[in-house]
Amino acid sequence: MAEYANIIVDISQEKLDKTFQYRIPKRLEKSIVVGMQVQVPFGNRRITGYVVELTDKPEYDEEKIKEILQIVRSSIPIESHLIALAGWMRRNYGGTMNHALKTVIPIKEKKRAVEHKKVCLCVHPMEAKNELAECVRKHSTARAKLLEALLREGELEWELITGKLGVSSAVIRALEEKGVVRILRETEYRNPVGHLSKGEYRQKLNEEQTLVAQTVKAEYDAGIRQTYLLWGVTGSGKTEVYMELIAHVTEQGKQAIVLIPEIALTYQTVMRFYNRFGNRVSILNSRMTAGERYDQFLRAKKGEIDIMIGPRSALFTPFLNLGLIIIDEEHETSYKSENVPRYHARETAIERARMMGASVILGSATPSVASFYKAKSGAYRLLELTQRVKEKPLPTCEIVDLREELRHGNRSILSARLAELIEDRLKKRQQIMLFLNRRGLSGFVSCRACGHVLKCPHCDVSLSQHTGGRMVCHYCGYEQPEPKTCPSCGSRYISGFKAGTQKIEQVVKQRFPQARVLRMDLDTTRSREGHEHILSAFANQEADILIGTQMIVKGHDFPQVTLVGVLAADLSLHVGDYQAPERTFQLLTQAAGRAGRGELPGQVVIQTYDPTHYSIVDASRQDYDGFYKKELEYRKLMLYPPIWNLLLILCASEKEEAAMQGAEKLAEKLDSFADGAAAERIFRIGPADATVAKVNDIYKKVIYLKAEHYQTLVLIKDKAEQFIRENKDYKNVTVWFDFNPINGA
Ligand code: ADP
Ligand code: ZN
Ligand code: ZN
Repeated sequence: MAEYANIIVDISQEKLDKTFQYRIPKRLEKSIVVGMQVQVPFGNRRITGYVVELTDKPEYDEEKIKEILQIVRSSIPIESHLIALAGWMRRNYGGTMNHALKTVIPIKEKKRAVEHKKVCLCVHPMEAKNELAECVRKHSTARAKLLEALLREGELEWELITGKLGVSSAVIRALEEKGVVRILRETEYRNPVGHLSKGEYRQKLNEEQTLVAQTVKAEYDAGIRQTYLLWGVTGSGKTEVYMELIAHVTEQGKQAIVLIPEIALTYQTVMRFYNRFGNRVSILNSRMTAGERYDQFLRAKKGEIDIMIGPRSALFTPFLNLGLIIIDEEHETSYKSENVPRYHARETAIERARMMGASVILGSATPSVASFYKAKSGAYRLLELTQRVKEKPLPTCEIVDLREELRHGNRSILSARLAELIEDRLKKRQQIMLFLNRRGLSGFVSCRACGHVLKCPHCDVSLSQHTGGRMVCHYCGYEQPEPKTCPSCGSRYISGFKAGTQKIEQVVKQRFPQARVLRMDLDTTRSREGHEHILSAFANQEADILIGTQMIVKGHDFPQVTLVGVLAADLSLHVGDYQAPERTFQLLTQAAGRAGRGELPGQVVIQTYDPTHYSIVDASRQDYDGFYKKELEYRKLMLYPPIWNLLLILCASEKEEAAMQGAEKLAEKLDSFADGAAAERIFRIGPADATVAKVNDIYKKVIYLKAEHYQTLVLIKDKAEQFIRENKDYKNVTVWFDFNPINGA
């Protein structure tokens, strides 16, 4: 029996980021395990902490070591491997151990077990159909949606209805009162859709799919564990391959985690997994309460399920016998956490898999440049699916040069060609999507006559507009005044690029008064159900045109859409971030993939001031290889990731002076840390204002470091953390780290 426990106390402060030792009282000797949450005296308070290690070796004067007060009854012991993973995250992404522990234990406190409910029809299906028709007539979309699903499925889990279906509990209760549905209550944990028979909808894999599945299975059975990159065009049947591999490992008593970006975690996707695996599957999503999430984690721990599907945080499902982690749409930026520790789910999954002897499958139609680079260099094994299962041709794609439009006197955001095609589709009663690929803040300035964009001469990223007519680089702080005429062609049509979805809606309505228009952006989706509401209205053909930001291009199938218009591809191309071409290529490829999903062929129009940019040209040709080669050349030239590694250090303070001084002092120090850390060359860029230099009265300054090796940056981070801890100038300055940042700062 160990005498002492090393404990991380539950206070996220740099200064307390170490373990504290406590004595284990006799009465708790048998029950204390690593991972447990306990209460301890701290100063003159009682606080909670996690046991991270048990030992017989006192680290202080034995007399002075205090006793653990009690075990926090509601705590669940987290597995020691999750603590090890937290340790790895802390080291590789910065922040405190407490931050890291909180990330790997998303639900800390045991909530009262929620009552599980399901809903079923309690009238004859004919009667339900009449009721459904009535609801459709009255435009009661939520009621209609629920009835439709119940007619199809018989009964549904309450959480599935209020979560994925997006139907509120008030709607269910109203239908119960009418005597149309019944709510069944159960108190024990149960599977979300237990009535579905397992294996019902299994597809026979085609040749390409079989080859991929066989390769992974054979290696798995031979004990080979590694990371695979499954590169397969949309609709090539990746999900079927995932399910085949999950079946293979679960048959051997292992478990699997499937990460899917929340926005693509649709009811249909979830249903496909349920249909195949029945009650062995569970899902996590951000709409669940802490208690509901806790339930799912508990089910995983108890071995009631062996497949967990969910966004980033599902990675920490406490499975003990993990065999496989799948990351679908691996290029998605939502896999990078925006909170400390700013971990990337892809790298963290690979580390968790390594610790537990599991394999990882990364899947995408447009792999991230970072992953493709690793696949090419042999760190990952590349697998390909080159054909769509249903042999549907890819849509045709044309690029419209907006500079030409201006030359012909058209100053509207709709080019003549796009307007003509919209007119045509409206006549044919087919649907149209207009896409504004705005991402983050696009504060760039460009010439509408020649397309010239103001860029930083040092970093080759777009300069951003600031108050007082200044143009600033957010990597290095380079600054120049905003020009009145184009430095390239002399035109006066040089200005910031401003076009919002609302403005476009106005223009479209004016031009096509007969069209029924829906708009989807942050404003129209603020409510919990706004998002699903608009999408289902469009799917039910209650509108002809859907205008929106990236939300509209991900993972939704609208078979009646035959025209997709990208209004200004430049919006994502000039965001002042080295990854802008990569994002643009991905967004355009995805947007194009929205056209022609049904029986009718699709057409795509990409409007731009930069019609020869490789990210736009290659996206219009769906030429990933071509894009990748050019993009890698650019990264090599500029030493951007994945060629080198980038560390962003953010200094924030309520006082601008303090933030700037903190950043400057640290920058100076960094150079000496770098000298001591490695013999290799390190570049420092900045300090400069962050992209959003002031948020909620907090000023933010950034420093970038570039080094060839990631671990060199980790060493510098460690020294920087120590310096900050020991220096009282940082009392009012918060400093955090972001390795290979995804969204800039
Ligand atoms: P991806 O994940 O690559 O986009 P999916 O797995 O979703 O592709 O497959 C696209 C569509 O093709 C789905 O409707 C799926 O059910 C169907 N499908 C996939 N594989 C097969 C197959 N071998 N036979 C018949 N249909 C298939
Ligand atoms: Zn110009
Ligand atoms: Zn610069």
